[in-house]
Amino acid sequence: MDAVLTIDQERLIADFMTLVSIGSHSREEANVAAYIKGAVEELGYSVEEDQAGDVVGGNSGNLIVRVPGHADWPTVLLMAHMDTVAPGHGVRPIRHADRITSDGRTILGADDKAGVAGLLHLLTMLHATGEDHPPLEVVFTICEEVGLLGAKALDRSSLKANYGFVFDSGGPLGSVVTHGPAQAKMMAIVHGKAAHAGMAPEKGVSAIEVAAHAISEMKLGRIDERTTANIGQIKGGFATNIVCDAVELYAEARSLDDDRLQAQQSHMTQVLEQTAKRYGVHADVEWTASYPAFALPEDSFLRSISANAIHRLGLPTNFVHSGGGSDANVISGKGIPVVNLAIGYQQIHTLEEWIALDDLTGSAQLMVELIRAISEYENHA
Ligand SMILES: [Zn+2]
Repeated sequence: MDAVLTIDQERLIADFMTLVSIGSHSREEANVAAYIKGAVEELGYSVEEDQAGDVVGGNSGNLIVRVPGHADWPTVLLMAHMDTVAPGHGVRPIRHADRITSDGRTILGADDKAGVAGLLHLLTMLHATGEDHPPLEVVFTICEEVGLLGAKALDRSSLKANYGFVFDSGGPLGSVVTHGPAQAKMMAIVHGKAAHAGMAPEKGVSAIEVAAHAISEMKLGRIDERTTANIGQIKGGFATNIVCDAVELYAEARSLDDDRLQAQQSHMTQVLEQTAKRYGVHADVEWTASYPAFALPEDSFLRSISANAIHRLGLPTNFVHSGGGSDANVISGKGIPVVNLAIGYQQIHTLEEWIALDDLTGSAQLMVELIRAISEYENHA
């Protein structure tokens, strides 16, 4: 490893602590965006903010940083998201001997500020050393946590990138997410028939009873190794003396395979409709696609580049399938092949969220090694 490219651990940690202490709930990313702009402009690179903020009703758009590189090499996309889940206002990061946590009143926001801090550090180092690298498009997205909205609003034609890497996965460094499920969301209304519960219950049909019957016949939870389904919310009813006339169900299904997702959606729809029919009532079932599946082909060169970078870091590579969606789903859906690399954050979306100092440093180093692995690949391409 070049001495000049050794990670400046103290600067990285300080930068990370600053980034997490700037609150950035989804749709409120402006302050952290301003910080990133300042840091990038100090290096002399231009930052564009797109129109995604208007699309989602937030106070910032996605940031796109274009870094010129080797003229003959394809442009590479690097991504992390700026927003966090709640409660993320007033984060007070605490540095322990081996890790960083919040003070227990908020999340930490290492998801995904560890990715943001690493990418800023990478840009600083590439700028300082002048090391050969591909042209880069570094994109910091908004609203990842509320349905990948920033990535969805990103204009594909504004990007030159041929392939890319997303830095937004937990677990040990060395994990490379190559598959992520498609998700669809269901909103259903099971209709019943209202009646007085004491004087004429036989004149009514309880929507609660119909829904309960239907749900008891539905395959839910883990459907198979590639497919899941969940009813997450039920609303309905007014009073104990009224036979309930409508129940709303909110559910989701996910699968790594589009046809299995389709099959699960049809199953849930059919059970609701047929059960309602047996009771002489009906159900309205509506599905919306949240995001597409992503699946990196077995022979993709992104696998060997990732494995080479991880090997340079001295770690084993572990290709994994994720059960969750990320910006990688949306970006690959837009036709840019990507993988999502683990950066070591733990217990995200909880007050116990933390990241090991070694993993914070390691993930920044991984980004450096990735640039070297890409350069090596392009040199021989
Ligand atoms: Zn994330």
